[in-house]
Amino acid sequence: MENFVFYNPVKILFGKGQIAHISGEIPADAKILMTYGGGSIKTNGVYDQVKSALAGFDVTEFGGIEPNPHLETLLKAAEVVRSQGINFLLAVGGGSVVDGTKFIAAAVNFAGDPWDILAKQASIKTAIPFGAVLTLPATGSEMNPTSVITKGATQEKLYFASPLVFPRFSVLDPESTFSLPPRQISNGIVDAYTHVMEQYLTYPVNAPLQDRMAESILQTLIEEGPKTLANPQDYDARANVMWCATMALNGLIGAGVPQDWATHMIGHELTAVHGLDHAQTLAVVLPSTLSIRRDRKWQKLLQYAQRVWNLVDGSEEERITEAIAKTRNFFESVGVQTRLSDYGVGLDTIPVIIERFEKRGFVPLGEQQDVSLEVVEKILTLCA
Ligand code: NAP
Ligand code: FE
Repeated sequence: MENFVFYNPVKILFGKGQIAHISGEIPADAKILMTYGGGSIKTNGVYDQVKSALAGFDVTEFGGIEPNPHLETLLKAAEVVRSQGINFLLAVGGGSVVDGTKFIAAAVNFAGDPWDILAKQASIKTAIPFGAVLTLPATGSEMNPTSVITKGATQEKLYFASPLVFPRFSVLDPESTFSLPPRQISNGIVDAYTHVMEQYLTYPVNAPLQDRMAESILQTLIEEGPKTLANPQDYDARANVMWCATMALNGLIGAGVPQDWATHMIGHELTAVHGLDHAQTLAVVLPSTLSIRRDRKWQKLLQYAQRVWNLVDGSEEERITEAIAKTRNFFESVGVQTRLSDYGVGLDTIPVIIERFEKRGFVPLGEQQDVSLEVVEKILTLCA
C-alpha cells in the first residue's frame, strides 16, 4: 500500500426528514446565500423544506446555476456575497450546484483573477463556509474537496481541489431524489461507477481493503441501480445508490492506491466541445480506456472480472474482454449509450480535442502517466 493522508471533515445528515435539521448546523447569526439550479427544487418540495428549516435566518437566494456550472454565473454570485456581507453559503441541488458553490466560496476573497484557481491551479487562502442539500446522487461533491467549472466564453472545463472547500455538512435525503428524471438517475449511476473504477482499476499495490470496498460499491450499484430506475419510489434502493455515490468519491477508497482519472479528463473535453452530459462522456470513454490500456491494467482487470462479474472460465484475455463488455452492457442497461456515434459525434472531434489538450500544455494522464496524446487518440478512435 502507498503512503497516504486521509482527511474528511464533512458531517453527513442522511435520511428522510433530515433537511429540517440544517438550522442546527449553521451559526445562528449567519447571513446565508442559498444557491440552486434551474428550478427543480421548486417543484419537488425541497425548496419549501429548506426555506422552512431556515426560518429566522437572514437568507438571500441565488438561482440559475446551470449544469456544468459556468464561471460567469458564479462570479455574479460571488459579487452578491461581497456586496451583501454574506458569510455562509447553502448549496441546494445536484453536483453542479455544489461544485459551483465551492467555487463561489473560494472566489469571494481571492486576490487576482478567480479563473486562475482553475487554469493555473492558484492556491486559495480562504473560503466562505458552506453546507449542501444534495438532490442528485452522482458526483460525490457533497463529501469531497473538488469542483469542476466551465468557462462559458471559451468552453474550457477545468477542476480545482482544496481542503478549504469541503462542505461543513451535507444532507442526503433519498426522498429528495424521487423527482429525478430517468436520464439523471442513470447518469448518477454511471458517474459513481466510473469514480470507483478510476481509483480501483489500475495496478495492484497490496491494498485488499481498498479493493474490496471498491468492489462492494460496484456490486451494490449493479444490484441497486436498476431498482431505482424500475421503481422510482423505492426508498431503500435510492438510499443505497445515494450512499454508494458518496462513498465512491470521498477519499476513502482512493487512499493508498494509484488513481487513473484519464477517463474523466477526456470526458471533460467531450462535454466542453459537444455538450454531452458528464456521465454520457464517461460511459463512452471508460470501456475504450480499459480496452486500449488492458496490458497496463491486466492484473486488476482479471480481479475485476472475477470478483465483480464472476467470470472464471476462459483464457485471461477472454475474461478481460468479457468484463469490459459487461461494463459497457451495464451502462447501456441503465440507459446510457456508450458510443460517440450514439450522440452524433464523429471522428472529426479527435483533432479538436487533441489540440485543446496541447494548447493547455498537456501532461500525460493515467495512473502511470503513460496516456500520451497518441494514446488519447487511440482511445477516442475506439469510442467511435
Ligand atoms: P447536475 O448538473 O447538478 O444536474 C443535472 C440536472 O438534474 C439539472 O438539470 C438539475 O435541475 C436536475 N436535478 C437535480 N436534482 C434533481 C431532482 N431531485 N429532481 C429533478 N431534477 C433534478 O448533475 P450532476 O451529475 O450531479 O453534476 C454534474 C457536474 O458535476 C458536472 O459538471 C461534472 O463534471 C461535475 N462532477 C464533479 C465531481 C466532483 O468531485 N466535484 C465529480 C464528478 C463530476 P435543476 O438545475 O433545475 O436543479
Ligand atoms: Fe465524475
